[in-house]
Amino acid sequence: MPIRAENIKYVYSEGTPFRTLALDGINVQINQGEFVGIIGHTGSGKSTLIQLFNGLEPATEGTVEVDGTLVGEDKKRLKTIRQKVGLVFQYPEYQLFEETVAKDVGFGPLNLGLSEEEISFRVKEALELVGFNYNKIKDASPFELSGGQKRRVAIAGVLAMKPDYLILDEPTAGLDPAGRNEIFRQIKKLHELSDVSVILVSHSMEDIAKLVDRVIVLCKGKVHMEGTPKEIYSEADELERIGLGIPQTASIVRELRKRGFNIKQDVLTIEEAKEEILKEVRRRNV
Ligand code: ADP
Ligand code: MG
Repeated sequence: MPIRAENIKYVYSEGTPFRTLALDGINVQINQGEFVGIIGHTGSGKSTLIQLFNGLEPATEGTVEVDGTLVGEDKKRLKTIRQKVGLVFQYPEYQLFEETVAKDVGFGPLNLGLSEEEISFRVKEALELVGFNYNKIKDASPFELSGGQKRRVAIAGVLAMKPDYLILDEPTAGLDPAGRNEIFRQIKKLHELSDVSVILVSHSMEDIAKLVDRVIVLCKGKVHMEGTPKEIYSEADELERIGLGIPQTASIVRELRKRGFNIKQDVLTIEEAKEEILKEVRRRNV
């Protein structure tokens, strides 16, 4: 069963001079098991939208449904929905506070009132899903870890709640390239190993292209485009027009095409670009 948002509007600071229409008629569906990217320029409404997905905020207009249940109708259901839809905020490491990694990851399950045995099972499983060696990491203090490691601990904390949907808001913001790659690698593996649906929010096309099955592009609170990464990236000019950078490979391919190179437009990876360019060079040399 999916997450379904219908005709969503969201207004901040209604009735004040600061009124902002953050979401303006959104219709999206996230299916179970999918790996979806939500991208858009800063201020396009990404963070606002995902906070509606788990009932953190009620929509001003429209409805959100999770697995057939309307979000926001009654309090008891809200608890179930928050457990089903796990949200990892931007800079989640600021929310780490326990003295050991194991206690931090176990905090949510403890609040669910689970048995000690079940809690430690979940903590171990969650830490391993994000690529840690449980025995090595469990007694460490979260504060002595690197930025990327802290973030993986924070993600494990949400996974320990066993969500059906995992939403990550700009999970690599502020990390160096090594930390970024590590996070993406782990998220990809996590999606392959478990049946959790992943929703990855980013302002960077480059990051999302290689990972997701489907991309939803937001612009000014509206869904601007939707499709596979290839479909989206073949619209390079349009993406730039709405303030999104395009992947370097896509921009190189576009320049070559402008100069008369006969290569396809929807190239995603450097490898693919290399093959395409070499093919054309060979064609030209014969
Ligand atoms: P994104 O995550 O894509 O950067 P946001 O959902 O944070 O976008 O913001 C969408 C719009 O809502 C922006 O115009 C932003 O300024 C506004 N906004 C976000 N949070 C608040 C808030 N707490 N109060 C008022 N306006 C907000
Ligand atoms: Mg945001």
